[in-house]
Amino acid sequence: MKLSRHKITTATWQAAKHFGGTIEPSLIVLHDTASRLDEGSAATYLANNGAKVSVHFVVERDGSLIQQVATNRRANHAGRSDYHGQTGCNGFSIGIEIVNPGRMTAAGHGFARSWFKETFNVETFHIHEVTTDEHGHGWWMDYTPEQIATVTALCTALFAGIPTLTDIRTHWYVSPGRKTDTNPLFPLEAIRAKVLGRDDPADLAAEEQSSRRQGQQLVQIATRGSRLNMRRWPSFNPNVIAAIPDGTAVPVIREGIFAGRPWMRVLWGGQEGWIVADYTAELTKPT
Ligand SMILES: [Zn+2]
Repeated sequence: MKLSRHKITTATWQAAKHFGGTIEPSLIVLHDTASRLDEGSAATYLANNGAKVSVHFVVERDGSLIQQVATNRRANHAGRSDYHGQTGCNGFSIGIEIVNPGRMTAAGHGFARSWFKETFNVETFHIHEVTTDEHGHGWWMDYTPEQIATVTALCTALFAGIPTLTDIRTHWYVSPGRKTDTNPLFPLEAIRAKVLGRDDPADLAAEEQSSRRQGQQLVQIATRGSRLNMRRWPSFNPNVIAAIPDGTAVPVIREGIFAGRPWMRVLWGGQEGWIVADYTAELTKPT
């Protein structure tokens, strides 16, 4: 595996005690250690513990990387899990544990408390209070830029070297309701986009849920105001990329229903974007 051109601080080997037979990995599962931050603390536990837990890679806070199980051998990192109907992810995935304390609670005076009772300064450690559907409420510590760089470099190298790999997901994704790692601050989609070499996943989702326009290719912008927002994605998140003047005729590229509302992907001002179809009219033919 060629790691040289990637930004991994150091890479070392520390053999795990518990691992199984041969696997043909198709998935990478990302985890948090939910552990102390001291270098080697989580790695030593993962290499040798009574719970028979093991993992292929551990990423320390400073970005250094430790491999503990060969990528073609089964490690015990995901437990009860399911990826798109395929159960038991340990049988077909590579696990990467990222050192992080996991869910914390407010400890007052600008501190957050971990499950192992250590308190961390919220500002020093970049800790944020976040609630998501997948994680619930918590105080979460940001990953270090070094960790993100190493995870990105490692995933890139794994994808380059293992042709059976197809996707990168998190433990909460394959064990929903049971696990919450990685935490809500983890930039999963950015890493997926970079490593998988795809466009923004939001673009892919929009593409999948829409279809090519049939029939009349031009529509006319018909707002009750003066301009209609054109958006990067078919949603009302802050994603406006242009405002099309009322009365403008625009070619429609795709159309689809998003959150119960019809949207159209149109071309205007040299770029493509999404508009709400309710604010368009069939083009009036010149008489
Ligand atoms: Zn996990």
